[in-house]
Amino acid sequence: MSVKGTGILVVDLVEGPGTALAGLLSGGGFVARHASLEDAARQVDDGETGAVIIRTLHVETGQEGIARVCDEALRSGMPVVFITPRSSIDLALFELSRGIFHITTPCRQEFLLARIEEILHGQGAKESGADANVMVDEARYRGVNYSVPVRGILGKILHATDDHISSGEVLREMLAANSKIDPDSLLLPGLEYGMGLTGEEQALCSEMTHAMKEKHFELHYQPIISMNSGNISGFEALIRWNHPEKGLIRPDRFIGLAERTDIIIPLGFWIIEEASRQLAELHRLFPSDTPLYVSVNVSARQFIYKDLDRRILEAVDRYGLPHECVRLELTESTFMENKDAANLMLLTLKSGGFSMYMDDFGTGYSSLSYLMHFPVDVLKIDQSFVKWMHVDEESEEIVRSVVALAHNLRRKVVAEGVDNEGHVELLRSIGCDYGQGYFFSKPLDFEALKKLLSRKPAW
Ligand code: C2E
Ligand code: CA
Ligand code: CA
Repeated sequence: MSVKGTGILVVDLVEGPGTALAGLLSGGGFVARHASLEDAARQVDDGETGAVIIRTLHVETGQEGIARVCDEALRSGMPVVFITPRSSIDLALFELSRGIFHITTPCRQEFLLARIEEILHGQGAKESGADANVMVDEARYRGVNYSVPVRGILGKILHATDDHISSGEVLREMLAANSKIDPDSLLLPGLEYGMGLTGEEQALCSEMTHAMKEKHFELHYQPIISMNSGNISGFEALIRWNHPEKGLIRPDRFIGLAERTDIIIPLGFWIIEEASRQLAELHRLFPSDTPLYVSVNVSARQFIYKDLDRRILEAVDRYGLPHECVRLELTESTFMENKDAANLMLLTLKSGGFSMYMDDFGTGYSSLSYLMHFPVDVLKIDQSFVKWMHVDEESEEIVRSVVALAHNLRRKVVAEGVDNEGHVELLRSIGCDYGQGYFFSKPLDFEALKKLLSRKPAW
């Protein structure tokens, strides 16, 4: 089927008549006609239109008119494509409540044209073959196609592109808001990935989503020791995959892929939830005037997820934890990816009483300038410096300088990779605040951690 030459009715609420969008479509081989919102509903049925494109900033503006055009188009089985700078929950709900819709964010011209061709091509196939009980969220994020099969919603297809951090997550919220549907029936972890991944990676992705459902992930905890008192002050939560056949899998084998594919979003929320739950149990078992804390690694993708602050607050408050007991570890790359969004999230979380750690400090290119711009509370000196400290003067000098710099800026310092007595002595003499490493303890599962804490160790 050729879709070139198909008539497209353009309702552009952003630019109005004479829109560049209509020009673009005409240039792409479509027969584009512009219509005002008032006229569009009448023109849909003129026999010359194959699809309607509505460009709008907010669905609220002219909601009635938009609804009329949509209903008219859908009655004739015609796809409606929304172009909107954001796919808000309201907009998505509005669209879902009306049937088959396609949302696309402003994108490159050739991509938009290809997308419209794809949608027009897809029409027939959907009608003939689609399972009426399955809703497929076909989304594309940074070049990766994926789809979320959803049970319980009749024959609705939502196309989204590009600017969702995770359109699966948007959907889940949307459905939660639409109380008719049980949000748990939408298995966000059921993402199926297509393009851009090797076969092996795709297999690993589906194994990961399965593992989330089956609760095969667990958190191990590595103590962080106060160099002053020698006592455990808190721990870092480190994820492990307890694979039924392959045994315990370390994070370097899967976290990178989880980040690339957005699996890190639901997985990250689980990590925060689980760390909060287990910390609350430790507070009950080991009460103290200076309560134990947990620091959780947060990836860049997760950190700029718009709802992160709310979700952290919810989890931490649900378990009645003081906010200062849940801390977040970020790396420089978190700030590199999206400076404004990252800074905003950082400030929001800090104002909520959560402390921020700069992880792997010293390994990036511009640690110092980032330190100026992003007000983290604690620096974690990377283990590569700490490891050679007692044999290599330069490493020792770096650690010494970082501690001095941090103290001047009123930040605390954790030395990572402390694995012998010599390190401990040197770090104490330098005035480093905290230490973490195999010398004190390897990461422990929750049961082993409780045993260690009940022995009240001191170094
Ligand atoms: P990281 O945040 O720098 O974590 C510290 C890593 O160093 C851990 O490896 C820990 O087991 C290891 N380590 C601790 N002390 C010593 C020591 O004395 N000597 C040596 N050689 N190694 C030590 P792990 O658990 O394999 O984690 C690797 C990385 O995976 C982490 O590096 C972090 O970037 C990532 N990761 C782990 N858990 C999570 C998580 O829950 N979420 C996210 N987003 N990333 C995670
Ligand atoms: Ca870390
Ligand atoms: Ca680290």
